[in-house]
Amino acid sequence: MILINKPTELHEKIKEERQKGRSIGFVPTMGALHEGHLSLIQVARSNHDLVVVSIFVNPLQFGEGEDFETYPRDIDRDQELCRQEAVDILFAPSVSEMYPETASVEIKVVEGVDVLCGQSRPGHFDGVATVVLKLLHMVWPDAAYFGQKDAQQVAVIKQMVKTLSMPLSIVASPTVRESDGLAKSSRNVHLTKDERQIAPKLYQTLLEAKEHASGGANRKELISFIQKRLETLTLGRVDYVDVLSYPKLEQVEELSGTIILALAYHFSHARLIDNIIIEK
Ligand code: AMP
Repeated sequence: MILINKPTELHEKIKEERQKGRSIGFVPTMGALHEGHLSLIQVARSNHDLVVVSIFVNPLQFGEGEDFETYPRDIDRDQELCRQEAVDILFAPSVSEMYPETASVEIKVVEGVDVLCGQSRPGHFDGVATVVLKLLHMVWPDAAYFGQKDAQQVAVIKQMVKTLSMPLSIVASPTVRESDGLAKSSRNVHLTKDERQIAPKLYQTLLEAKEHASGGANRKELISFIQKRLETLTLGRVDYVDVLSYPKLEQVEELSGTIILALAYHFSHARLIDNIIIEK
């Protein structure tokens, strides 16, 4: 595995590999890798000749007062994990290498961002789309791999790639969870001991809501069901709860087709998100 920090160096290496006709799979991450990230790397490894992983905590996707500074970082451990997963190139640029000058063009996501994280973190998906677009230009992979844990991100990126006619596939993989159901997240290290005990309730609540949905509950009833359950938790507070069509992310009163049940929850030092997708 080689570690590359400079986009120009990455470009040279990718050009060489492309000339050899090798297929490229790409996994963009913000590091502090866990089994969720590794599952994406493993799928990419099984599908491509060359696997590129990026680690970049993207300031553009963090709002004021969010956790950009405190976001967990451990490049040595990440490097070791990538080596174990037979990653070929680990790309870890600095902020100044990624954003060397003021931007002459701004990326603005205009679809699917008036709900969920797009609503509670204004501008977040503009930052995500900007960095993903830049990374996709640098790596120009045949496929890029994303986690369904960030379901709105998957929907936004798929639409962006389609809108911009980019010739690559966006592949989504299921959420990897701890044995008690908590979705793996780099931010879980910021949970206190007591919060960590409560945190699996987020997923349990979504599972109970799924049952409720099979019983015929409509959108409003499901949202209120989830909200009420979460309000009984003794720590933290709800950021949002919603039930929408997926991947369009539209409000539909009568639930049919593919539906996402999604939530975001604030603990003292970590805002966690989770979702499940059901077929009605
Ligand atoms: P992040 O480093 O949090 O930006 O995540 C990088 C990629 O890993 C994104 O596509 C995430 O959706 C994905 N990911 C994060 N957590 C999980 C998880 N628990 N299971 C599957 N994929 C995940």
